[in-house]
Amino acid sequence: MSDTETEVTPPAVLELQAQFAELSATEPAKYNIGVVQLGSYRHPCTVRGSANRQRSLDLEENYVLAEDGSVAMIYREGRCKTCKQIARNSIPLFVDPTVRPPLKGRVGRA
Ligand SMILES: [Zn+2]
Repeated sequence: MSDTETEVTPPAVLELQAQFAELSATEPAKYNIGVVQLGSYRHPCTVRGSANRQRSLDLEENYVLAEDGSVAMIYREGRCKTCKQIARNSIPLFVDPTVRPPLKGRVGRA
């Protein structure tokens, strides 16, 4: 028996996964946008005009660095200014901060 064959999730990733789970619990997203990285998301806006009216909401990147700095979590989230509904990636990405630093400036389409 060898423990080295077991794939171990680094504590920093577990920490970020817990943060994301807490966010999902306290502020659940109405729209689940999967893992695809999009600049905007179209949703049926329920406040202004008819319920079938599609409006797009802009998604912004959230970049969360683990406390020890070894890993970063990236997810996109957007909130409609009109109906306040939230769209968010259901599964965040985990990246090496030295390889994938936070985006500065442009995110998706302007
Ligand atoms: Zn809306």
